[in-house]
Amino acid sequence: MFDSLSEKLESVFKKLRGQGVMTEDNIKEALREVRLALLEADVNFKVVKDFVESVRAKAVGTEVLQSLSPGQQVVKIVNDELVAIMGGHEDNSINLAAKPPVSLMMVGLQGAGKTTTCGKLALHLRGRKRRPLLVPADVYRPAAIDQLKIVGKQLGVAVFDSSADQKPVDICSAAMKFAELNGFDTVILDTAGRHQIDDFLMGELAEINETIRPAEILFVADAMTGQEAVNVAAGFNDRLGITGVILTKMDGDAKGGAALSIKAVTGKPVKFVGMGEKLDALEVFHADRLVSRILG
Ligand code: GDP
Repeated sequence: MFDSLSEKLESVFKKLRGQGVMTEDNIKEALREVRLALLEADVNFKVVKDFVESVRAKAVGTEVLQSLSPGQQVVKIVNDELVAIMGGHEDNSINLAAKPPVSLMMVGLQGAGKTTTCGKLALHLRGRKRRPLLVPADVYRPAAIDQLKIVGKQLGVAVFDSSADQKPVDICSAAMKFAELNGFDTVILDTAGRHQIDDFLMGELAEINETIRPAEILFVADAMTGQEAVNVAAGFNDRLGITGVILTKMDGDAKGGAALSIKAVTGKPVKFVGMGEKLDALEVFHADRLVSRILG
């Protein structure tokens, strides 16, 4: 994950750590390289601009220039700012405080990993002593309902019985009633995806949102798609008001752009990362841990 970015930042840091004395020019040169590394990793250009400016402002402070190891100080500032743009140390746990059944609505483009992530989330929640119900509300992709049923069976998690001739909003409403009557405290709604944002899909999701008023609308994004994931997240956020992001396929060779920009662009936190195809490959997102992985 983020191999190229890691390598490039490590080489900048190596030079910085070795510096006995540092001038504004040294810092400028180092930041030029950091900027290039981030752009090559497909980080949003505005995010890169703000990031570099913020590091520069902190790094040219007299304290850094006069400190005994100015290079180390700059490395620390870059580290801290990377954590900050990904949401800092804020609590990213999902909101389960509402009166049960708490509904979690999963949205995103087709192929992003939504259905798989519904299963992963159900497993995660069960580990937290919740009783989840999976709800297949994607009536357009023929295999989607069966896929969620298979996932539910694998996990031993209940799947609401829906069929492709029902309206998604009706499935969701019926599922909420079913959950209430049958003691399920958390309902995970797997909605339809498309290859791109379209008005029909958005209208349908808005209808579910208005009817169910979910506690969370989680945008599932494929980290491998970089800036595209960020743009689509921004689109969903404008139209629907997402509450968080789940980044999938972080086990692959994503360059880092999506993870590093999505919070800064949408203002919505990354809550989980998908680390593999297996249903237990879901991790709660911690910006500082991700930065430690990037910086080695
Ligand atoms: P959906 O169309 O959004 O519901 O996507 P699916 O859940 O069907 O997932 C699409 C593909 O991505 C499947 O082959 C999944 O196994 C795979 N996938 C989902 N999440 C991850 C992940 O975190 N890592 C990897 N490597 N593959 C994933």
